[in-house]
Amino acid sequence: MLKPFVTLISFLAVLAASLGLASTTTASAAVTAPSWPKTVVYVYDTTAGLKKADGTPVWPVKAAAERWDNDNPVDYRYTAKPCPAGAQCVVVKQQELAGNTVGSAVTGSIGTELVSATVTLDKTFGARNSATRRRNVACHELGHALGLAHRSGETSCMTSYVTNQRNPDKTDVTTLVRMYTR
Ligand SMILES: [Zn+2]
Repeated sequence: MLKPFVTLISFLAVLAASLGLASTTTASAAVTAPSWPKTVVYVYDTTAGLKKADGTPVWPVKAAAERWDNDNPVDYRYTAKPCPAGAQCVVVKQQELAGNTVGSAVTGSIGTELVSATVTLDKTFGARNSATRRRNVACHELGHALGLAHRSGETSCMTSYVTNQRNPDKTDVTTLVRMYTR
């Protein structure tokens, strides 16, 4: 029995070690950006129990997910429990990532449809960086998990390097409306 070929796309946000500037590594790029076939997408946050000393989350995944589904058809449903069976599901986890990589999003797609997404957030970055920068990385990788690519400029968290931008911008929203209005 043949299984459909699943294309894996990996986006990595790379923070330059010493310059304050940064660069990006994109493993591969899709000609047509894949999107989830249905608009309800669960975000299973396995980092939910990781807290700073003041009780705030190490990774503000919930806030980032809630912001992403504003003003567009995407319904990101945050959960600290595994996604329901059969649901479209983004799994978010923390790991020690190699080198200067601070986050990654690996999506699986069949044709133009996303079928899986895993976001990995760097443990050292989470321990050493401000809430704003942690939110920037969470926002960035959750954007990739919806099929979005990098943006130029710093009005969006989808810039290919770490900034203090916590949120998507109107262009991202417009892109999501186009991708998810069928
Ligand atoms: Zn990226």
